[in-house]
Amino acid sequence: MKISPLVFLLAGAHGFAPVSNMASRSSPLAMSTETEAGKKAFAQLPASVKPGVVTGQALVDLLQHAKKEGWAIPGVNIVGTNSINSCMEAAAKYGGPIMVTFSKGGGQFIAGKSLGNEEDSASIAGCVAGAKHVREVAALYNVPVILHTDHCQKAWLPWMDGLLAANEEYYKDHGEPLFSSHMLDLSEESLEENIGICKEYMEKFAKLDILLEFELGVTGGEEDGVDNTEIDSARLYTQPEEVFYAYEQLSQVPNAAFTCAASFGNVHGVYAPGNVELRPVILHNTQEYISEKLDSEDKKPMLFVFHGGSGSSPEDIQYAIDAGVIKMNIDTDTQWAYWDGVREYEAKHHDYLQGQIGNPDGDDKPNKKYYDPRMMLRAGEEAMAERLCKAAEDLNCVNVLN
Ligand SMILES: [Zn+2]
Repeated sequence: MKISPLVFLLAGAHGFAPVSNMASRSSPLAMSTETEAGKKAFAQLPASVKPGVVTGQALVDLLQHAKKEGWAIPGVNIVGTNSINSCMEAAAKYGGPIMVTFSKGGGQFIAGKSLGNEEDSASIAGCVAGAKHVREVAALYNVPVILHTDHCQKAWLPWMDGLLAANEEYYKDHGEPLFSSHMLDLSEESLEENIGICKEYMEKFAKLDILLEFELGVTGGEEDGVDNTEIDSARLYTQPEEVFYAYEQLSQVPNAAFTCAASFGNVHGVYAPGNVELRPVILHNTQEYISEKLDSEDKKPMLFVFHGGSGSSPEDIQYAIDAGVIKMNIDTDTQWAYWDGVREYEAKHHDYLQGQIGNPDGDDKPNKKYYDPRMMLRAGEEAMAERLCKAAEDLNCVNVLN
């Protein structure tokens, strides 16, 4: 069946009714832009994109703009307010948007590792708490922030249902969802079941102006308790026909907006060079295939996201961006950066960190200002932010706001 241009326009990432009741009313920044109707908050971005959390049509506008301009947003896994703030600090420095990403395990960590996690109660509460932290401070950093959640496999859907309930509640009060987008990863299931479940959730998401990220094919490697290191390598490469099938199915949902994590040999984690063969040409071929099938003017109808970006060469990243990648996930590299900052801090001040009293300056000298946990945590934050500025460079995401 040929899809008419009108349907195509309404489909995919063109969904979402304008969100009339923007959430960040308490922020003076948001208020000033509201009173001066039509005034852009960021000179280079679509007028709908304001500082703070971006949802609904504004998010779609932002992602389409990124695709058109040829840059991608860093999507970063966080585990608490330190890494969250580090993301926003970095975004303010490199002058671009940031995607703050909560995993199920990260949410549980935010709630507290001592808690039980019956029915994902801690994972849900932690993600919601983290999201509310972002909601409260994001506009102060004066950058667009996307609130997102990471891989959710079939067995984890109760976690997603809990997040949906939180979105619904937030929507009632603020006219927009708490989170900007959620990922569903049913790539272990058959294509039909994967997209069937995605469509079911797309219907729920679309009612709340939430964008869906879905996965086709399997991202290799291991992350957050999901181990795909032994997977058949053929499954690491998504077929264009599969992406088109998903595109068609999801586009049937009114107000749908989605992005696709297609596999092109990408893996979670950092591996020795030569172990992974990235074939971003798969993304190019897929765009061409869909564009032809839709008989569309748009040569890149799909918004792609890139999982397992850590350790990729700048050339592969650039090639993927050319193929319509608008977000790249970074976890392993920022984990290392955070630790490396702490390690460096300890190495530098080692002799001042061996007891509460006594250091090279004297046996009775106090060390409080060195072992205050904020010192170590801040060192990690700074190193992580610095690493993210490098990531933003690779993604052409520097100075894209004003
Ligand atoms: Zn991933």
